[in-house]
Amino acid sequence: MKLILLGAPGAGKGTHGAAIRDQYHLPIISTGDLIRKAIQSGTDLGEKVKSYVSAGQLVPDEIVINILKERLQQPDCQDGYILDGFPRTIAQARALEEMGIVIDRVIDLEVDDQSIVERLSGRLVCSACGASYHTKYSPPKEPNLCDNCKKPLSRRQDDEPATILERLRVYHEQTEPLKDYYEAQGKLRRVIGQEQVQDTTRLVLAAVASE
Ligand code: AMP
Repeated sequence: MKLILLGAPGAGKGTHGAAIRDQYHLPIISTGDLIRKAIQSGTDLGEKVKSYVSAGQLVPDEIVINILKERLQQPDCQDGYILDGFPRTIAQARALEEMGIVIDRVIDLEVDDQSIVERLSGRLVCSACGASYHTKYSPPKEPNLCDNCKKPLSRRQDDEPATILERLRVYHEQTEPLKDYYEAQGKLRRVIGQEQVQDTTRLVLAAVASE
């Protein structure tokens, strides 16, 4: 099965993607994670893309399509995957089709802008395992330490207030049109974010299993 998780930054793609992964044993392919890794390792690619990420802009299609193509060649992608954060433009969606990839379902996580700002401005992440916390809604057991690996937590650089607003603007302008694109193909499943994470997860898993 090949799935796409669509939704604004902070809509919960990582959290609900993990629930799908655990149930279906599919790898999560996050272009954001691949890009952050390239930046952290200081590769040429990382140097090329870091100014886009820190400004809250999208990395140019050609670059991110190549990053994804390379990742999908790994053996763990043979039986399917969950795409988290790709595609983010119509051109990227077309690139998937040109690669001969047939997507089964697109799960669209709907969360209003005000909640997104609140979620992202309190988000803390573990740079070791990628686990995500929120200072108010899901704090770690020990202040600033990851529950899983006990490494210090930090804020993503692009979770600064001005950058959050820019990422949201870019989402509405460039990524949201993908909803109509996949709706027209009969693949879109809308999930409205609920107050309790587990309630949203239940709806997401039902949407994945739906016809
Ligand atoms: P994310 O972790 O998915 O929020 O991605 C973090 C940042 O990486 C984004 O704000 C973009 O700058 C960049 N990025 C990730 N995925 C893509 C994509 N599919 N297209 C363009 N830029 C991307």
